[in-house]
Amino acid sequence: MNKAYLWHPFTQMRDYENTDPLIIERGEGIMLFDVQGRAYYDGFSSVWLNVHGHNVPELNEAIADQLGRVAHSTLLGMANIPAIELAAKLAEITPNGLNKTFYSDSGATGVEIAIKMAFQYWSNRGNTRKKTFVTMDQAYHGDTIGAVSVGAIPLYHEVFRPMLFPSHVIPYPYGYRHTGGAPGAKEATLTALRLLLETSGDEIAALIVEPIVQGAGGMIVMPSGCLREMAELCREHDVLLIADEVATGFGRTGAMFACDLEGVTPDLMVVGKGLTGGYLPVAATLATDEVYGAFHADYLERKTFFHGHSYTGNPLGCAVALASLKLLEERNMVQGVIAKESFVRRKLKALEERPHVGEIRQKGLMIGIELVRDKALREPFAWEDRIGVRVAARARELGMLTRPLGNVIVFIPPLASTEDELDVMTDLLTASIVDVT
Ligand code: PLP
Repeated sequence: MNKAYLWHPFTQMRDYENTDPLIIERGEGIMLFDVQGRAYYDGFSSVWLNVHGHNVPELNEAIADQLGRVAHSTLLGMANIPAIELAAKLAEITPNGLNKTFYSDSGATGVEIAIKMAFQYWSNRGNTRKKTFVTMDQAYHGDTIGAVSVGAIPLYHEVFRPMLFPSHVIPYPYGYRHTGGAPGAKEATLTALRLLLETSGDEIAALIVEPIVQGAGGMIVMPSGCLREMAELCREHDVLLIADEVATGFGRTGAMFACDLEGVTPDLMVVGKGLTGGYLPVAATLATDEVYGAFHADYLERKTFFHGHSYTGNPLGCAVALASLKLLEERNMVQGVIAKESFVRRKLKALEERPHVGEIRQKGLMIGIELVRDKALREPFAWEDRIGVRVAARARELGMLTRPLGNVIVFIPPLASTEDELDVMTDLLTASIVDVT
């Protein structure tokens, strides 16, 4: 039935039809169990979103409790209690000044909203020249057309190019693949941004960036200070900054938000994935009072933000998000990530000696291991080598789930993973890489 009726995302179905399908039946803690009863460590947090593990009593109760009241009511011109409380909580925990929450239901729609808000912000202020966006090489912001337009991963995005709006692309500071290392890469990024803003800043609405860690591009960690300097350049040139914290938000990098690591307050910030602890599809676009203010006018001025999805501000999703944030605070989990980060770093260190391990990148509990065919030359494995896919398949055989990004092996365990669990998972990860390479 699975192969007959389901079309899986980001999956070549011809290959899939020849595989032993993985069908998950239940979860408990950081383990997932398939229909045959086999157990797997959730080594990529079910695509980077699980925070507290699966089947968490507090989160289950929050949904059940809300379910007994109302499952959904619209946010178009009216409200519900969890949506109000969550918006207030987000204003409290996000960088200072982001006080207005606009809900949606996936990272991509959250990004779509940020892009449209940035565009309309300038138009509402009477500036119709600022229409374009700046993004970074290998950026990933989701799969809707606006989000793809500011995406820059050729494999995913090129086929759609003729139907997209054009964006400026500046280099991402990828120290491992820059002749000047991290400092050279950082300089190249800042120089490109400075030049672009000096020449075309008056036509640019916003820069969108995955702060501190570029996720789908290969878990690439920005050199220190880069984000802050980019934010300063944007401010100097009257260009909005959109921080896409969909992957990095809610403690994943060892701070509540990656922007906090460099004291940056963006004009717009998108959160999703971990917002509900990985339970339900809720995302949010946060705006500063300044951005919000540009939409605040007489109805006849047509400055309203005409955007909204049917399930926006869903009470079940907002209730579980509130419960997840409560656990995050009560259990001091963001602080906990810092200790876990060092533990994982120490455990993975030995992998550096392996002949095909090019670079191990880590920020908090976001880890990418780039495998290379020739370590001295930093020569990538070829597409045909399917190296990442083979390592992930071996990990699954050994009892851990992950999904590669090309030649980069991803390890993003749930934040709640204990040191013992991280110990086992890093061993399984190491064994999978050793067995395949
Ligand atoms: N932005 C970033 C940085 C992401 O990593 C992702 C998903 O991986 C998205 C946006 C898209 O989120 P969603 O899959 O919920 O649409």
